[in-house]
Amino acid sequence: MKRNFILSLFLLPSFLFAQEGIKTLIKAGKFFNSEIGIFQSEIGIIISNNKIESVKFYSEVTNKEKSECKLIDLSKYTILPGLIDAHTHLLNNETILPENKYEGLDMMKTLTMVGDAYRAIYGSVKAKAYLEAGITSVQDLGNAGQFADIALRNSINEGLVIGPRMRCAGMALAAEGGTIPKIIYKHRAILNEEYRIVVSPEDATQAVREVITQGADIIKIYSNNTINITSLSIEEMKAIVNEAHRYGIKVTAHSTNNQAAYNAVISGVDGIEHGDQIQDSTFQLMAKKGVIFVATHMDDFTSKKYFQLAYPDRWEGIVKFSQEIKRKSIQSAIKNGVTIAAGSDDNLNLKMPFAEASKRTLVSYFESGMTIPEILKAATINGARQLNWSNNIGIIKHGYLADIIAVDNDLENNINAILKIHFVMKDGNIYVNN
Ligand SMILES: [Zn+2]
Repeated sequence: MKRNFILSLFLLPSFLFAQEGIKTLIKAGKFFNSEIGIFQSEIGIIISNNKIESVKFYSEVTNKEKSECKLIDLSKYTILPGLIDAHTHLLNNETILPENKYEGLDMMKTLTMVGDAYRAIYGSVKAKAYLEAGITSVQDLGNAGQFADIALRNSINEGLVIGPRMRCAGMALAAEGGTIPKIIYKHRAILNEEYRIVVSPEDATQAVREVITQGADIIKIYSNNTINITSLSIEEMKAIVNEAHRYGIKVTAHSTNNQAAYNAVISGVDGIEHGDQIQDSTFQLMAKKGVIFVATHMDDFTSKKYFQLAYPDRWEGIVKFSQEIKRKSIQSAIKNGVTIAAGSDDNLNLKMPFAEASKRTLVSYFESGMTIPEILKAATINGARQLNWSNNIGIIKHGYLADIIAVDNDLENNINAILKIHFVMKDGNIYVNN
């Protein structure tokens, strides 16, 4: 054991370690205070090991503190907490087929010809790109084979590979067929490689125990199985919620229509993913019960790319229609007082650099009428709540983990500034500084 420990220390890149005993002082240009949702100026942040020690006006930093710290001058930039994407699939790369003919064909190829080992390696490359793009935490919601997401999370935690903090669902819980209809009956067991198929309320309880035993941090369920028409019953979802909450673990539900969202909400889930075409009455119930809405939206740029690949001959009308639905959804959520957490569902092969689709979700919220402070809260403090990590990340203040990024100084007035990253610190270690 000891020999392995020493060997693993040897293999770790040296930059993964903050220098013990030496503190860091960041001089911020503008500073986004995610708790209040305002931009402030002339702020100094002192970091000790992997935690924020103090945040104060730079003029109040004492000479003694300055002498104890290594200064990082980011006074040309805007500083904010590391971004949180609450809905990722780092280990999935779905091909967009002409006429958007998904039908599970791409997933079948992944299960029979790609495999978990390749997916974990792919995920590790994508994870590094996410971190370097300023996304310091993600919630990875299944489609990672048999718990390969948890292997990636553990590898990142051990320092073997570089990536964001990961909260993982392991396998998502779904009704018969998962999201893939029409598999020949004798081959249907292949879906057990991708989903935990639930057959009754009793089995739902057992399924929660299984994925938690494998190391899941969050339970992901399919309230409906788009594009398959099967779905979990309310009794099954209630059993899942009861069991997960016994261990202090949250449940979040894929719900792509109003009925699915409503069923999940009355079953007691903590989050609704996607939430297309949710009605005001369901949003009102979500607000009352404190259910978070993870609005997995594409911005106009990404939507155009997607529909051009899926419908090369008639993409324009579809983009307009789909973006209008998204705008209405955000407006309705805000009007009804629902907390929005940023989540991208980035898993399509859009022929874009890794992590760009994730960050463009924030641009989509701007296009849907959210203010820049509202968007940044969705991607920091609200995301932390959805990840069940409210006491650790999403805020830059005393005692929180040192996850800090810097972008161009005009972020306050230009959401596109989020696309270009100048500085990334995760857990007190610097990964980008340019
Ligand atoms: Zn998803």
